[in-house]
Amino acid sequence: MSKKVKILVVEDEKDIAELVRYNLEKEDWQVLCVETGEEAMKFLEGNTIALILLDLMLPEMDGLETCRLIKQESQWKNIPIIFLTAKSEESDVIVGLQLGADDYITKPFSPKVLIARVKAVLRRLTPESKNPNEVRHIGDLMIDIPKHKVVYQGGAIELTTIEFNIIEFLSRYPGRVFTRDQIMDKVWKEGKFIIDRAVDVHIRGLRKKLDKAADFIETVRGVGYRFKDEKDWEQDE
Ligand code: CA
Repeated sequence: MSKKVKILVVEDEKDIAELVRYNLEKEDWQVLCVETGEEAMKFLEGNTIALILLDLMLPEMDGLETCRLIKQESQWKNIPIIFLTAKSEESDVIVGLQLGADDYITKPFSPKVLIARVKAVLRRLTPESKNPNEVRHIGDLMIDIPKHKVVYQGGAIELTTIEFNIIEFLSRYPGRVFTRDQIMDKVWKEGKFIIDRAVDVHIRGLRKKLDKAADFIETVRGVGYRFKDEKDWEQDE
């Protein structure tokens, strides 16, 4: 039995499936390709999969429905899913992320971006929960959780509790995009009634205070926000 990390690719466009396979196999992952959501479900029955790359537009059962069914099953719900989408499908991505998918990649994508995103999600397989004693260093930025303090290039940045909670939460998952709803859920735990524009307002305030470090918080148009992944830095621009 192979000990390689297995990645399931669900994609009906053969050219794309082969491109993905070629690039992932170069990283020494084992790649298994199926063309429909039904085949994917069948495949999961007999195999242990580390990650699923799931096309949104599939014949018959689409990617969202496939994602929903996978996330319903307790034995599969922790398998990370990255959607493969066309640009025009980005509104579906929000639904997908809310169904529990981890990330998405817009076609056409470069092999570098594909590999970086897959690696980022695999790194998160053991998701760190908030460690109350952690001091996080990201480039010149320091997030001191016990002291509730953010420092950039040696200068302290005064943040409100909400702003601190937003940057703490986003930086816990570099590269991962969160919808406004998800950010609200995590940051406003008391279940206060908040309109989702409030997230934008707080993030605008946060960025202003971060000043030169504002680029750490990226807007993902039509979707939400993410903390820039160091590994993506050269690839995104
Ligand atoms: Ca397709």
